[in-house]
Amino acid sequence: MKTQLFEPIKHYLLDSVFPLFCLVCQKEGIWMCEPCLQKISSTPVVACPICHKNNQEGFCCSSCKGDSFLFRHFALYPYKNSHVIKKILHIFKYGFVEELGQTIANLIEKDLLIHRDKFINIDMITFVPLHRRRFLERGFNQSEFIAEIVGLLLRKRVQNVLKRVRYTKQQATLSRKKRVQNVRDVFTLEISKMVSGKNILLVDDVYTSGATMQECAKVLRKEGAKKVIGFSLARG
Ligand SMILES: [Zn+2]
Ligand SMILES: [Zn+2]
Repeated sequence: MKTQLFEPIKHYLLDSVFPLFCLVCQKEGIWMCEPCLQKISSTPVVACPICHKNNQEGFCCSSCKGDSFLFRHFALYPYKNSHVIKKILHIFKYGFVEELGQTIANLIEKDLLIHRDKFINIDMITFVPLHRRRFLERGFNQSEFIAEIVGLLLRKRVQNVLKRVRYTKQQATLSRKKRVQNVRDVFTLEISKMVSGKNILLVDDVYTSGATMQECAKVLRKEGAKKVIGFSLARG
């Protein structure tokens, strides 16, 4: 009885303080209405993780191979101002996980399975961890959330194996050069024996410079992971 009463009141209060509008067509009452969701088409960004040159599968080009701990990288959407995914991820990152989580899950479900063949050799899925302090501030890890959806769709286990040992500035606020320094050696492995000999899908929400994902991949490779393949929802 209590929850039956509580839910409508909570929604009424939330709606009056933050009225919801579809991020695309402004229709009231929902973050993303069904027709708009269907209209968002996945235009994957598959490019070399290092020099960002587009290629068929997101492989490293031969001249960049030596600089990358990622074997390849795949993103479902471009990360740019004109694309609604940027708006969605921004709002998602700073809260509203209950409201927007379903929209994101629907999007991934709609667009990921078309590319299922790219992930057949994956043994396990992991994600870029947040520092404990940031996790407590936000209350959830957006990369873990995305990894869980990907895991369900691809029917692969998601394991939390990485740990962030240092609290860092947010990458988005830094220049490309500073981003590399900011995340250098900030990750360790929480459960080391799990990664050896495995092909690992490493998940993050957004890929821009790639510095964070490369640092995670470095740790995984050092512990014997066979290949680390990057997956992010969007790539800038
Ligand atoms: Zn709409
Ligand atoms: Zn390259």
